[in-house]
Amino acid sequence: MAKGFTDRLKAGQIMVGDGATGTSYQQMGLRIGVAPEDWVFDEPGKVLALHTAFVDAGADIILTDTFGGTSLRLRESGYPGRATELNRAAAQLARRAAATKDGVLVAGSMGPTGMLMEPFGELTPAAAADAFGEQAAALEAGGVDLLLLETFFALEEALAAIDGIRRISTLPLVVSFSFDQGTHTMMGLSPTKMVEALRPLGVAAIGANCGRSLADMERVVAELAALDAGIPLWIKPNAGLPRMVGELARYDTGPAEMAEYAVRFIEAGASVVGGCCGSSPEHVAAIVAAARPG
Ligand SMILES: [Zn+2]
Repeated sequence: MAKGFTDRLKAGQIMVGDGATGTSYQQMGLRIGVAPEDWVFDEPGKVLALHTAFVDAGADIILTDTFGGTSLRLRESGYPGRATELNRAAAQLARRAAATKDGVLVAGSMGPTGMLMEPFGELTPAAAADAFGEQAAALEAGGVDLLLLETFFALEEALAAIDGIRRISTLPLVVSFSFDQGTHTMMGLSPTKMVEALRPLGVAAIGANCGRSLADMERVVAELAALDAGIPLWIKPNAGLPRMVGELARYDTGPAEMAEYAVRFIEAGASVVGGCCGSSPEHVAAIVAAARPG
């Protein structure tokens, strides 16, 4: 069997990604307002435990605890100024969990900086490119198999990130947006516009993650599939719409329903399926069972 991410995609292999990091950590005691990335240094045992739970559930790809790991976003964490060290350590933790089973891949997770690009905010393309390049270099040094830009909403920030990453790394790169306004992102980007912008850039896969309801994600997947762009699709929805219980967002969609949707996404053409916010190892196990029957 082909081993690398792009080889597996080319072979038509369906892969299952892991579930939620942030909401899973909250279940494990992460306090509201604390950056999940703090746990790379503060609670490495718990970070390793969640990775291992997803590997044991059958995930083919696990994501590093570095969603907020650009130097720009880490300013609001407990570890400002330590992006390189933190991302490398996070990649090594995921690598350790992946090594417990044959063929598990590690994706280096990179989320938005949390800043708005010019002219709406102060972030320049050059600063964004530098920050994502720095993060990608550290993730690669820590041993990730692929890089993932996820939960993006602004095309300009993603393009700057891709530019910065490409300067320092040749690892396969997946780019995934959060279409959380029905079928558009917060900044008004549609799945079709995303594909048009990314198609010339040679990314390994394009995707949709997080977002809103599973029904909305199905509409996003249908739009992406209808484009037939020849680029593999990476689909990682939340476990349904959250409801607030006190300060915590609760996700009520169970493993069976998540698995039903995952099968529909695969039938529509997705190559990688998994879960985002609210998705536990039980959700991932159900998706694995449904995606790979027998
Ligand atoms: Zn999410």
